[in-house]
Amino acid sequence: MHDLVIRGGTVVDGTGAPRRVADVAVDADKIAAVDSDVGRGRREIDAKGLLVTPGFVDVHTHYDGQATWDPYLTPSSWHGVTTVIFGNCGVGFAPVRRGAAPYLINLMEGVEDIPGSVLAEGVSFEWESFPEYMEALASAPKAVDIGAQVPHGVLRFYVMGERGADHAASPTEDEIARMGELLEQALNAGALGFTTSRTIKHKAKDGRFTPSLSAHQPELLGLAAAMKRAGRGVIEVNSDFGPGEFEVLRAAAEVASRPLSVLLLQVNNAPDLWRETRAEIHAARKAGLDVNGQVGCRPIGLIWGLETSTNPFSTHPAWTAMSHLSAAQRFERLKREPELRRTLVEQRPADQQTRMIETALPRTYVMDGSYDYEPDPSNSIAARAQIEGRSVWALALQAMIAEEGKGLLSHTFENYTEGSLEVIREMLVDEATIMGLGDGGAHVCTVCDAGSPTFLLAHWARDRKRGTRLPLEFLVRKQTRDCALAYGLPDRGVLAAGHKADINVIDFERLRVLKPEVVYDLPAGGKRLVQRARGYRHTFVAGTEMLRDDEHTGELPGRLLRAR
Ligand SMILES: [Zn+2]
Repeated sequence: MHDLVIRGGTVVDGTGAPRRVADVAVDADKIAAVDSDVGRGRREIDAKGLLVTPGFVDVHTHYDGQATWDPYLTPSSWHGVTTVIFGNCGVGFAPVRRGAAPYLINLMEGVEDIPGSVLAEGVSFEWESFPEYMEALASAPKAVDIGAQVPHGVLRFYVMGERGADHAASPTEDEIARMGELLEQALNAGALGFTTSRTIKHKAKDGRFTPSLSAHQPELLGLAAAMKRAGRGVIEVNSDFGPGEFEVLRAAAEVASRPLSVLLLQVNNAPDLWRETRAEIHAARKAGLDVNGQVGCRPIGLIWGLETSTNPFSTHPAWTAMSHLSAAQRFERLKREPELRRTLVEQRPADQQTRMIETALPRTYVMDGSYDYEPDPSNSIAARAQIEGRSVWALALQAMIAEEGKGLLSHTFENYTEGSLEVIREMLVDEATIMGLGDGGAHVCTVCDAGSPTFLLAHWARDRKRGTRLPLEFLVRKQTRDCALAYGLPDRGVLAAGHKADINVIDFERLRVLKPEVVYDLPAGGKRLVQRARGYRHTFVAGTEMLRDDEHTGELPGRLLRAR
């Protein structure tokens, strides 16, 4: 008698193999069998007509702080995700000296848009070393498995002090050696990787660039040598990829003899640059290196509404004059005062934000309940304004006031230069890519892409209208086995005997993401955008049901992962 039998479901097992109708038997925390008849279970789930997949693995999140206060790790856990990895992009919270937390908060607030007040209240900072942080994570209750990585910017600040916050300052030989020792210590304690940021998009809240931005080769190679000594961990990099950049990263991966994972996305001012990077990834793989590109499955979208961090009017004096009001009071005034609306639309400030929005509106869409993340450019808010002969600003304001002030706009700022997701299709089908731009836990009130695993399956296998779809088996593999293997987690991501019983039972016909919404559930009353899903009948983590009919069961079977 098995503990659990999921009977007669359509099994898409994470290997890419064709779907088949089979039973999945679970004993304790492991899959016992996937077969046509596995015998009886103490609990049986009739999965006839339902999709059965491995739990999803999200390698690119920023739950470094949230993991210490929120056992449910939403939004990810609403989307069939059973493993999250954080500490990405060179930012995080360990190691940290007593009294140094404010700088790390300032860095996380600036780079990942998590409000400082939320972090100051939510994160206890009861640790100093990375292994101590791991202990705090291990003892925190959690619904899904979590893995931590060592952030470069944080390591730099710990060893170099205030100088470390200045990306132009180089560490001494001793400091490089010290950073290496600490990195090795963290990896030996089970950290899954070392992460760094080399993008000018990342600035601390105080306006300074991220500390690791221009770290030179001696520093990178010193850290790579530490990874080589530890013999574990992935190198994750968020870079702008200027000339010569890939060679620098490749050299680090060679010295470390460890996998390299770089973010791969399309930017509007150099829409083909990602293809050059991809070619370099392919060349490195051909030479025997373990390198991949982390890609998304939809445009990276800034979300604008009356309650989000920014919107087209957020620097307007008439808007900032209302900053003391609650969201409801602001909405009431906007609804009742035509003069206020006219002022916002017609007397715009001549500032940088307004100029940015002006150029953004042709790539901005109304995000209603039917928004499918692949809108036709002829439906952009700017295109509609032109057709209707109206001010695009008036249209933007009207869209945000709609739905009782809950209306949202989506500005497709990356991965959508040509106005279609063909570029994403090209990224997805590339065997050198893994899924990884969801950014769960970050950009809490500007971007909300942690629901990408749900969208990946629903849009790309079923709903896509403006181009070809992709096989479900391929997409599931992409979000499960491929991500797990890329981070050295061969115990999950596949439905087969002996693997961890992380399992989704999905009503695929109903599977979809809901419209994002702003909720006020962070520490210190902080707000964030969340996106819920429909279609997850059951999600199991290590054989325990964590989600049922899209709601948490209250069970907290998650564990801290330690690299081996
Ligand atoms: Zn990131």
